[in-house]
Amino acid sequence: MNRRFGHDVAIVGAGMVGAALALSLARAGFDVVVVEPRPPSPWRSEDEIDLRVVALAPSSVDLFGRLDVWTSIAAARACAYRHMQVWDALAPGQLRFDAADQGMAALGQIVENRLIQHTLWRALEADPRIALRCPAEVTATQVDDERRTLVLGDDSRIAARLVVAADGGDSDLRKMAGIETRDRDYGQRAVVAHVATERAHEDTAWQRFLPGATLAFLPLADGRSSIVWSVPEGEAARLLALDAGAFCAELGAAFDFRLGAIQATTARAAFPLRLRLAERYLAPRFTLIGDAAHVVHPLAGQGVNLGLRDADELAGVLVEARDAKRDFAGSAVLRRFERRRRSDNALSAHAFDTIQRVFASESMPLAALRGAALTVVDKIGPLKRLLAGHAAGR
Ligand SMILES: Cc1cc2nc3c(=O)[nH]c(=O)nc-3n(C[C@H](O)[C@H](O)[C@H](O)COP(=O)(O)OP(=O)(O)OC[C@H]3O[C@@H](n4cnc5c(N)ncnc54)[C@H](O)[C@@H]3O)c2cc1C
Repeated sequence: MNRRFGHDVAIVGAGMVGAALALSLARAGFDVVVVEPRPPSPWRSEDEIDLRVVALAPSSVDLFGRLDVWTSIAAARACAYRHMQVWDALAPGQLRFDAADQGMAALGQIVENRLIQHTLWRALEADPRIALRCPAEVTATQVDDERRTLVLGDDSRIAARLVVAADGGDSDLRKMAGIETRDRDYGQRAVVAHVATERAHEDTAWQRFLPGATLAFLPLADGRSSIVWSVPEGEAARLLALDAGAFCAELGAAFDFRLGAIQATTARAAFPLRLRLAERYLAPRFTLIGDAAHVVHPLAGQGVNLGLRDADELAGVLVEARDAKRDFAGSAVLRRFERRRRSDNALSAHAFDTIQRVFASESMPLAALRGAALTVVDKIGPLKRLLAGHAAGR
């Protein structure tokens, strides 16, 4: 630690995004401190597959590879998906992506959040350039020309040339920095569970648009599928209250029995859905990344992938500035990061928002148009490749 400035970078929040940034920076020689209120719960192979899973895009798998954590995540438990199929309940037509057609080994990987967090946490603990302050919470921040200081709950202080908030969608740090957000409550909840199906999942991520709802089936390593069923709040409460048999019967019908009958389900959980975009990412010696900067609808499975792209881009910009002997936490450098990531995040968020609105509609003319649009995209190779490339983070 530098006596005058304190640490190079303080990262608040060690979720998947904050932890990935900490490792990227430490591996590049930065002196990093991470503040986190609670360590992630341990992951053990004998435990049931955790209910929270994410579809990692190839760009995220590539980042984890560069951070030397992917081999251990993949060896523990991950499921590659090589196909993706999207269709609409109200209109004919479908869209299908195949990894081979895109020149890719897989379109992505389904992994438990807890496994990723656990693996990243162990890597943080093992890195001598990373100081972990856990359990700890930030109660205030102060800034001067050279550094930002975090005041913790026990009244101790941490100074750093740059503070990065990666403390999730309800980011306290964002509020402390006076950064407003634009919010839209979808009035929906995502009901999640793992289900056993009559037929194998075919290494396919399936997505069906239903009136007012979307339903995704993501393949799991043990042959089951993880479902994300985004429905209006009242409907979510009803689905959660059904007994297992009735839930499986309704789910099978909603999924058009593509994998036959639903034979069993785990317990279910539900998460509220909203769009939340920070109006800006920067304050003096401060920036936001991950869900602290943008919370998006999960229908495209891109939330954490966007956050990991933030982490990768920020690390790149900071390393470049340091190597050029510039103040890496100065406003010109941080603006470069914000310019590169904010527009991509906003564009993606609005695209998912539009898809959600258009596909949630029950209007028949709109449904016919949706069916036609899926078929057209499916037939136009370059457009399809463009969409697949964007989802892959290329
Ligand atoms: C149902 C559902 C399905 C999803 N599926 C996908 C998917 O398939 N693919 C995908 O890419 N994304 C998906 N997402 C989105 C994804 O889960 C999030 O984008 C991702 O978890 C955000 O990671 P993060 O590290 O930015 O924030 P978080 O995961 O929220 O982590 C924030 C961290 O900050 C810590 N923290 C909180 N408050 C403080 C504080 N005051 N001080 C210090 N630390 C603090 C927390 O303990 C935590 O460790 C899904 C989301 C939902 C709801």
